[in-house]
Amino acid sequence: MSVPVYLRVAIPSPLRRTFDYLPPQSPPAAAALQPGIRVRVPFGRQEVVGVLLETGTHTDLEPGQLRQALALVDDTPVLPPDLLQLCRWVSDYYQHPLGEVVSTALPALLRKGEAADPGGETVWGLTAEARGLPETAFKRAPKQAALFRALLARGQLGRAELEALELSRNAVKALADKGLVSEQTRPPTPPARADDPLREAPLALNPEQQAALDQLRYQAFNTYLLEGATGSGKTEIYLQAIQAVLSLGRQALVLVPEIGLTPQTIGRFERRFAVAIAVLHSGLTDRERLQAWCDTASGRARIVIGTRSAIFTPLPEAGIIIVDEEHDPSFKQQDGVRYSARDLASVRASRQDIPLILGSATPALETLHNAMHQRFQHLRLTRRAGSARAPQIALLDIRRLPLQEGFSPAMLAEIEATLARREQVLVFINRRGFAPTLICHDCGWVAGCNHCDARLTVHQYPPHLHCHHCDHQRPLIQQCPQCFSRQLQQVGLGTERSELFLQQCFATTPIHRIDRDSTRRKNALAKVLEDVQRGDPCILVGTQMLAKGHHLPRVTLVAIVDADSGLLSTDLRGPERMGQLLIQVAGRAGRAERPGRVVIQSHHCDHPLMQLLVTRGYQAFARQLLAQRQLSGMPPYRYLALLRAESKRPENAIDFLTEARRLAQQLQPASPQLHYLGPLPALMEKRNGRFRYQLHVNAAARRDLHRLLQRLCRQLEANPLSRRVRWAVDVDPQDM
Ligand code: ADP
Ligand code: ZN
Ligand code: ZN
Repeated sequence: MSVPVYLRVAIPSPLRRTFDYLPPQSPPAAAALQPGIRVRVPFGRQEVVGVLLETGTHTDLEPGQLRQALALVDDTPVLPPDLLQLCRWVSDYYQHPLGEVVSTALPALLRKGEAADPGGETVWGLTAEARGLPETAFKRAPKQAALFRALLARGQLGRAELEALELSRNAVKALADKGLVSEQTRPPTPPARADDPLREAPLALNPEQQAALDQLRYQAFNTYLLEGATGSGKTEIYLQAIQAVLSLGRQALVLVPEIGLTPQTIGRFERRFAVAIAVLHSGLTDRERLQAWCDTASGRARIVIGTRSAIFTPLPEAGIIIVDEEHDPSFKQQDGVRYSARDLASVRASRQDIPLILGSATPALETLHNAMHQRFQHLRLTRRAGSARAPQIALLDIRRLPLQEGFSPAMLAEIEATLARREQVLVFINRRGFAPTLICHDCGWVAGCNHCDARLTVHQYPPHLHCHHCDHQRPLIQQCPQCFSRQLQQVGLGTERSELFLQQCFATTPIHRIDRDSTRRKNALAKVLEDVQRGDPCILVGTQMLAKGHHLPRVTLVAIVDADSGLLSTDLRGPERMGQLLIQVAGRAGRAERPGRVVIQSHHCDHPLMQLLVTRGYQAFARQLLAQRQLSGMPPYRYLALLRAESKRPENAIDFLTEARRLAQQLQPASPQLHYLGPLPALMEKRNGRFRYQLHVNAAARRDLHRLLQRLCRQLEANPLSRRVRWAVDVDPQDM
């Protein structure tokens, strides 16, 4: 009699456990049961697709409880061993159920059980019904008409062709909705010859770039921090490093922030290399995503460029990972599995023993810390490409000045004068909700905590001031204790009306907005940039982020309306983010022969951090922030995790976290090595009708933190209070 074999399966479920099954009927050969294949199994009253983790001869289940798997979906693993390991690592590190991690890693169609071989590229073609229509159909919808004619002429069109012909994706959708266009597949084009990966010759590097490139070693794990301003030539180094890797017969993975994955970026890679490039981002259809996944898994695509989730792409011949703009917050997933793609890149590169390049003009504090401690090799590019000079930065003290929607008279005069010289202005408005803090407009006094060296955060439910370092609370005050003024303001609330105000002030000047929305709508942004390149005077309003790599040579004034909200913010990363944004935005000015000027409005022009940033640059600023983090016992010197909970009735979330703290303290009493804070209201305490709270756990050793969280999560899962809230663990939180 043969020994029974059990299948241990990861199933997308919030339960932190795996599930055992009997193999399907007509038992498959043992060799077919490879970890990483998908299995269709009964789960409750449903049928779900799980991933086989391992087989075993032991199960904790009673024979009567065991159910039988329905079928094996794959012959070969969809999750190769290295990715399966990565998923396990993510599950352990971020304290997230393995089944959900695996499901996050897989493209949606694989999750649903579709074949892992789409058999070709997704294209669109006319249905039989459509082919019967006259060529003059769609008279009243010119975009649909253009698409229809193109499809009649060429049969099928893929994504790239649609783009090249400037055909609208909305028209595709419109015709598909009418049943006139259908998604079809076209056999993959044969892979390019691997012995000649280049389409165009690389640029001759300047000595600094050459020195950086010469440092790179391709045959072993090492992390390189490539630090250089926008335009200093980092991307050219990525391209040449990738070239080296391709000629070793290996693949390259390039991660870019959401905002950085522009047609220009992709175009640059496509112009340089003759190999197949897979592009992965949130705008893809499920089928396109599956296609890109399969292209890299099969080794057909040699380069993958993608946003955060591309870190889970299978790369059988991985040779290098590059994370561009590594400080960008979009690399951290903010819901579900709260992973950091940058940190996973490091885990993956180290496991596969390949190099990792982290590129940035303004590296994250953690990254700088690692570079300072020789864990990363620090490569610097100090020159700007071309003849552009660094911009001159001026601070404008706005205390007591009459402000109109955030603008001081002096700032408005600067803008007007620039426009009068027929030059362009970039106005930076910060819409990121930094933790609001109370500031006196007349003297600059900021509400601080009496018990520790921290600022108080303004909260609304009920109105009060709250210290996020020691939990101290005070009522909201109406008068400045320093100068007795009643002009107390909450900074950090964003300035929604600034743009409208500019429109009224400069009625005859075109105002263009560059933000997440406008950069997502590809053609809209291209059109704006075209207008801007033409060079007529205009105002560009940049909210939050300015797309990387957009050259704005005619911008000679960068106006920063509100630097205080970030620099004085109480959130852990407020000052760091603000410093990064200021440097990045400042980098937009003075790129051509004309010198650029940056004007920053602040109530705290003499603030040491502000002074450092303006006079000595990001490095000095970041070192100062690191020193503060060390003093206050914050990352990267200590390790932080949040237990987040939200509920419609605030007391449910508070009760749950209070219980969580009690349980945690039973497992691990508070000590200098590991302490607790909270429950505290989240900085944005109400969202979508839910009240949000958090419990902070701060540990001197990562091991202690993880041991505690692991045991705590199991207890919380079983706790009845957990059913009344949505809760999650956030390890290495970005926003708090
Ligand atoms: P970054 O990625 O740091 O913003 P890029 O690599 O995009 O910098 O370079 C900025 C500009 O300078 C690009 O237009 C690029 O083509 C050009 N450039 C970069 N390196 C060189 C070089 N060695 N010689 C000539 N032009 C270069
Ligand atoms: Zn005052
Ligand atoms: Zn305090």
